[in-house]
Amino acid sequence: MIGGKKKIRGIYIELIDALNEAARSVHPEEFLCMIREDDGILSEMVLIPGTVYGDSHSFLNDWMAPVDFSLVGTMHSHPGYSNRPSPEDLSYFSNRGGVHIISCMPYDRNSWKAYNSRGEVMNLKIFSDTRDDCFDL
Ligand code: ZN
Repeated sequence: MIGGKKKIRGIYIELIDALNEAARSVHPEEFLCMIREDDGILSEMVLIPGTVYGDSHSFLNDWMAPVDFSLVGTMHSHPGYSNRPSPEDLSYFSNRGGVHIISCMPYDRNSWKAYNSRGEVMNLKIFSDTRDDCFDL
């Protein structure tokens, strides 16, 4: 279901903002969605019909997900102060491959981390959606 063929080189900060905004709006439940990439940069959240929020780590109904190979990972929120993957998260990641973002309280630009399918932290380059500037420059 998750493509994962393409090398992911970064993430748009606007996507983090969108995740945090969504996380705040469902707090104290968990927000969960999938991620689409554009030219190797994580760019867009994709809401999955049938996702049930708040049932901790029940995660996605896979069969409901659209077949879309630009989907490269997942994002979810933790309604607490840890953005570390839970054991359930790790087993989900390892079954899916791809990139997995977890954000936690207080849901700001410093409260997220990206993990690979082995649960190892990935250092993603931060881009801005204006497309011509990169925060690292
Ligand atoms: Zn989690």
